[in-house]
Amino acid sequence: MSTETETVARPEDHPIAPYLRMDRMPHIWCPTCGIGTIVKCFASALGEAGVDLDKTAIVSGIGCTGRVAGYMNLDAFHATHGRAIPFATGLKLGRPELEVVVFSGDGDLSGIGGNHFIHAARRNIDVTAIVLNNLNYGMTGGQVSGTTPEWSVTSTTAFGNPEREFDICALAGTAGANYVARCSPLHGWEMKEIMKQALAKKGFSLVEVISPCPTHFGRYNEMKETPAMLRWLGERALPVERFRGLAAEQRHGHFPVGTLVDRDEPGFNERYETVRARAQQQ
Ligand code: SF4
Repeated sequence: MSTETETVARPEDHPIAPYLRMDRMPHIWCPTCGIGTIVKCFASALGEAGVDLDKTAIVSGIGCTGRVAGYMNLDAFHATHGRAIPFATGLKLGRPELEVVVFSGDGDLSGIGGNHFIHAARRNIDVTAIVLNNLNYGMTGGQVSGTTPEWSVTSTTAFGNPEREFDICALAGTAGANYVARCSPLHGWEMKEIMKQALAKKGFSLVEVISPCPTHFGRYNEMKETPAMLRWLGERALPVERFRGLAAEQRHGHFPVGTLVDRDEPGFNERYETVRARAQQQ
């Protein structure tokens, strides 16, 4: 006969426990924040993709999502604000055999680090970037960011954000990334599959996950509880095929989810080897 203590699930028995630094738990994230779901999908993707964890490095910048690097059971680098991509670029060039993943927030990667982001996509450096877009600067108090939807309320736009938001995926695709996809915590299985594709892809891969921040973005926009934010996301997210079939005026207020760009242009490591070979022939 089993006892009560035998049936209680222990955190270290969870399927993704081997991918986490359990000694660092509990984490700092707010209850019901979307980051947990995204970390779970990332851990599952690493496992199902058969990635060698001893040859995988993760680089984060600053912010709520910047903490992911410290919680994953991988070689990790917690870079300065906006500088995750330069560190990852150097790492990939110096150690091309490594799988290098950048995991950070929209403020870090597309705001403060936006310039690096554009050039990483242009170079098509063989790095996988997972951008958690919580639509504001969460850790510092819910200020407006480059991805805050226009007319949304934040702690610094009390009467609505008069700026238009960045489309991170369009930016990466236009700049030259080989793989670009978007999803949300509503699409857990798809998110995991997209992350697997991004990890397998040569060249620059971007996965944008639009994620609920109930503590700030949700609270300021009458979606204090995560289910309300998820409903809001669900009303706006459209499968990419359906989105592309809409007229421009019908697209307003919606965004496409799924794989948006998938091509096989030579990555920067490959081009760099060409230069190295030419130099050796001199
Ligand atoms: S502030 Fe927002 S993004 Fe940051 S942990 Fe809390 S809910 Fe998540």
